[in-house]
Amino acid sequence: MNALRCVAILDDDVAMCDFMREAIEQAGYRTVSSHDGRELAHLLSAQPDLLVLDLAMAHLDGIEVIRQLAALRYAGSLLLVTGHSVSMLHSAKILAELQGLRVAGVLTKPMRAESLLALVQAPEPAAVRAQARAPIGLEDLARGLQNKELVLHYQPQVRLADGAWTGVEALVRWQHPQHGLLYPDAFIPLAESGGLSLALTQQVIERALTECAIPQHQRGGTLSINLPPVAMTDLAFPELVMAAVARTGCDAKELIFEVTETSVPVDPTRARDILTRLRLKGFALSIDDFGTGHASLESLQNLPFSELKIDLGFVRVAETDTSARLIVESSIALGRELGLVVLAEGVENQALWHWLKKAGCELAQGYFIGRPMPYEKLALWDAEWEVRRLGLC
Ligand code: C2E
Ligand code: CA
Ligand code: CA
Repeated sequence: MNALRCVAILDDDVAMCDFMREAIEQAGYRTVSSHDGRELAHLLSAQPDLLVLDLAMAHLDGIEVIRQLAALRYAGSLLLVTGHSVSMLHSAKILAELQGLRVAGVLTKPMRAESLLALVQAPEPAAVRAQARAPIGLEDLARGLQNKELVLHYQPQVRLADGAWTGVEALVRWQHPQHGLLYPDAFIPLAESGGLSLALTQQVIERALTECAIPQHQRGGTLSINLPPVAMTDLAFPELVMAAVARTGCDAKELIFEVTETSVPVDPTRARDILTRLRLKGFALSIDDFGTGHASLESLQNLPFSELKIDLGFVRVAETDTSARLIVESSIALGRELGLVVLAEGVENQALWHWLKKAGCELAQGYFIGRPMPYEKLALWDAEWEVRRLGLC
């Protein structure tokens, strides 16, 4: 029995609605569906955990539905779909989030059943429900940090040319004593607004280096760690990291810090100071979520990045959406021109794998290769991947 109780589908394209309903039911979920936005209240009466919403509908369009969902304080997640361009989806996603709604993902039509299910199934339902029920407070987070309740899951990264494993990205979760396993979107924004994100980052670094970096070193791979915007304003940050590296006996060369484009402009001079010193100390730097910020070209040209990570929002739909495909292709070309390692995240199926390989992308990360997992599970993944990758190359 699936822990996600009910998925609602609202799409005026009858065939598409039936396709999505069948795929979701086959995966073991209960569904309710409608072809008319005016039946929203009826759909919500089934108390869905997730609403799959078509943006372009005849009677009541998706943007109007989003407005109504916000007014009704809908507590589940949204999955936005459209036959229009990916930019339309991103704009609708921002609109929904600005109104306090939770967007689990976006998809362009036509879609593959596996892409749809990857979003329906993630993040894990227990976490979705816990987040919908109880908002987390800052004091609770401070207590969680104090009690070392953060845990890390690691997602593999591989080389497209031959499928060889190259490293992992550490992704933080919070093993909450009452709410179960919480995902970053339930507590990272709170940590950032409440001044706890540097303490959180410090714990993530310590833990990742302790449980991962030495075995990682033995296997010859890299370890990527996400940095919050505040790390780009604290001039002592490089020393703090060096101290952790020294304590755990790791090598700076195996660590990659991921910084999003949007966190650089907060204070460009400090960011440049910090990033340059991190690079001088031997760490690699990755520009994360590339394509979603505003300063893409400028940041790349002037700052000492070594890797470009194309945002999964573009990669996931690159096969079906023309503008996303162009963005991915030009990001690959730009990264290569600038001598950066180009990594595509959000690789969810085999067709994308082959497409990215042909497009000249170097590294890949995504559910098709492996979901984020506790460190102990990486060896098993490795063994399985060794077999799977033979069929890909
Ligand atoms: P991100 O750095 O862009 O991480 C990628 C997110 O996409 C992860 O979600 C990952 O589980 C998910 N993902 C990976 N492959 C696929 C795929 O093929 N399809 C789809 N649909 N999703 C995929 P997660 O773990 O929930 O992390 C969300 C965000 O939280 C991260 O986005 C990052 O911005 C932030 N975050 C995670 N760990 C940390 C941390 O230690 N510190 C800070 N400051 N932020 C973190
Ligand atoms: Ca990242
Ligand atoms: Ca990313």
